[in-house]
Amino acid sequence: MKMLFVPWKYIANWECIACGKCCKAYSVVLNFQEWLRIVKNYGVDKTVAGLDKIFLKRRSDGSCIFLSKFSDLYLCGLQYMKPKACKLWPFKILSKPKYGYAKEAAYYYGKNKFYVYADSNCSGLTLGRPSWEFANQTVKEFVEIALGIRSEQYKTTSKIALIDYASVLRDLKARRYHFRL
Ligand code: SF4
Ligand code: SF4
Repeated sequence: MKMLFVPWKYIANWECIACGKCCKAYSVVLNFQEWLRIVKNYGVDKTVAGLDKIFLKRRSDGSCIFLSKFSDLYLCGLQYMKPKACKLWPFKILSKPKYGYAKEAAYYYGKNKFYVYADSNCSGLTLGRPSWEFANQTVKEFVEIALGIRSEQYKTTSKIALIDYASVLRDLKARRYHFRL
């Protein structure tokens, strides 16, 4: 999948629509703590060692081993220990304007300046002038997750997951679908 990065000032809003595209197209890199937690809870076979990195295992079709389809939505089975790489996608928070458009990508968090871009392959992006909510809440939350200041997600995850997750799990259990948290 070709990556094209858009500076945040060209984005009106972002909301994950649970299309699952990102969980099928990319490999997820794990840090050591994330790897340990996943191995303890799900077993070592859910991860794969690369040359110098550890990844989440992918199925033969390329999808993440924790991705589940429910109706026409794709849900993450690692909701409560989601790797940081997944929490940040499709945004990149950088200290240098790596993808150009330095003015449009600049974002101030306190006195610190970052450069924020989004991968245009994400289906949840709406291009345009940033809404107040996107600029002051969504991008801020992504920056805080990138800095390690926060880990819980509110604006940066699918609202579908936040609102309906419990009922989705009940349905999956009722259908004897194996879905372990
Ligand atoms: S982050 Fe984007 S690509 Fe990934 S599931 Fe959500 S809308 Fe789809
Ligand atoms: S851990 Fe969840 S969010 Fe990350 S790639 Fe897998 S299914 Fe997608």
